[in-house]
Amino acid sequence: MNNKIRFYNTLTRKKETFKPIRKDFVGIYTCGPTVYWFQHIGNLRSYFFPDILKRVLKTEGYKVRHVINITDVGHLTSDADVGEDKMEKAAKKEGRTAKEISKFYFDGFKKDLQKMNIEMPDFWPKATDHIKEQIALIKKLDKNGLIYKTSDGVYFDSSKFKDYGKLANINVKGLKSGKRVSVGEKKSKTDFALWKFSSKEEKRQQEWESPWGVGFPGWHIECSAMSMKYLGEHFDIHTGGQEHIQIHHTNEIAQSEGATGKKFVNYWLHGEWLTHNGEKISKSKGGLYTLSELEKEGYSPMDLRYFFLSAHYRKPLSFSLDNLDYAKNSLKRLKESVYRFKDADDKISKKKVDGAFEEFISYLDDDLNTPRALSYVWDIVKEHRLNNSEKYELMIRFDKILGLNLEKEKKVSIPLNVRKLAEIRKQMRDEKKWDDADEVRRDIENLGFSVKDSEEGYIIKEKT
Ligand code: AMP
Ligand code: ZN
Repeated sequence: MNNKIRFYNTLTRKKETFKPIRKDFVGIYTCGPTVYWFQHIGNLRSYFFPDILKRVLKTEGYKVRHVINITDVGHLTSDADVGEDKMEKAAKKEGRTAKEISKFYFDGFKKDLQKMNIEMPDFWPKATDHIKEQIALIKKLDKNGLIYKTSDGVYFDSSKFKDYGKLANINVKGLKSGKRVSVGEKKSKTDFALWKFSSKEEKRQQEWESPWGVGFPGWHIECSAMSMKYLGEHFDIHTGGQEHIQIHHTNEIAQSEGATGKKFVNYWLHGEWLTHNGEKISKSKGGLYTLSELEKEGYSPMDLRYFFLSAHYRKPLSFSLDNLDYAKNSLKRLKESVYRFKDADDKISKKKVDGAFEEFISYLDDDLNTPRALSYVWDIVKEHRLNNSEKYELMIRFDKILGLNLEKEKKVSIPLNVRKLAEIRKQMRDEKKWDDADEVRRDIENLGFSVKDSEEGYIIKEKT
């Protein structure tokens, strides 16, 4: 609980000091995946930054309630309320039910998050489990005179909502029907479906009764209904990919505030793309790996996590196997350093350790500046004014936020006597006793290990 945390808020287009609605509690909602296909590493990046957000808030003393929804109905192939329902389309293609498809890809997604050390949310609500809540919300909008019906569904009338487009700074007037855009039966391009009627020609797998006719909810309404159910009508933070600013989040605000008359969310945080050759990674542009595919190529989920940490969440991150190699090597070196600090038995100055930790967290408090925090971790590795025990303690504390498993998964276990010899050799080198140091090096080699010096200190390896 402090006034140090600052976030860039898309709503106000500036960095603001974070003030929670309740004293020590923060509610966060993240737009989750549409579970019709595997999540690729770009998708994973958009769930990674809320993980850092949560860890920082928790470290700063807040209780966090986090919700990620699962879209298992209503997301059409085009964001303009036309096209096929992605779930129904996948079910047809794979010859399975929409429920089976949803379960399969949701399970895969959860496994990927676990592998990436991304903490699970407190709630995983599914759109199909919240039809009642979505209908209730549309009824409220109806009562407030904000909806109209066409032959294919029920629509939100954006012209009746005063602040429509405030998140994205949309000039609504320029988008009115009759201008450049074709809007079908919609009155305005910015109106959007709240409820779509099932088509007469084709039987849908997932459809429900409603006061307006049999059909299914539009994509946006689920996020308003479920966030309000689990976090209240007014809550602290909403996250998502930046493409949601224009349509999905703009519509979430309009329908939520249109229904309740209250401000919906205080802070809107949006993550940037994982890119490949300067463009969002995609099937056609390349770089579209899943986590399992990367694992098959010899990378670990922690390599990818380190890679994600190396860029600020609001900056594009350029993916390539070469860039990932760089992250992999850096992580390996960092783990070797931590391992070297581990067995030290030096006296710890709490003041020094706390001071260094404060500096580390201050970078993250500043709109989750992970690259700055990571470079500070390397400063600590090389810092001469801290002893190894202090460094080890700091690394373990840093890792509560970095989540890199810094002291786990040590592949080669280096025996204690070898590590002690390496420490003795270091002391000799510090005292410029080069001959003695070389003699210890030979002892180490006779035990089957080699020791190399690097900028961050020495590294012990098994001799091959
Ligand atoms: P989807 O399952 O397609 O609805 O996407 C889920 C989330 O992944 C959305 O919030 C997107 O913003 C995000 N996403 C998709 N592609 C990328 C990418 N290349 N980089 C970062 N986030 C992405
Ligand atoms: Zn959403």
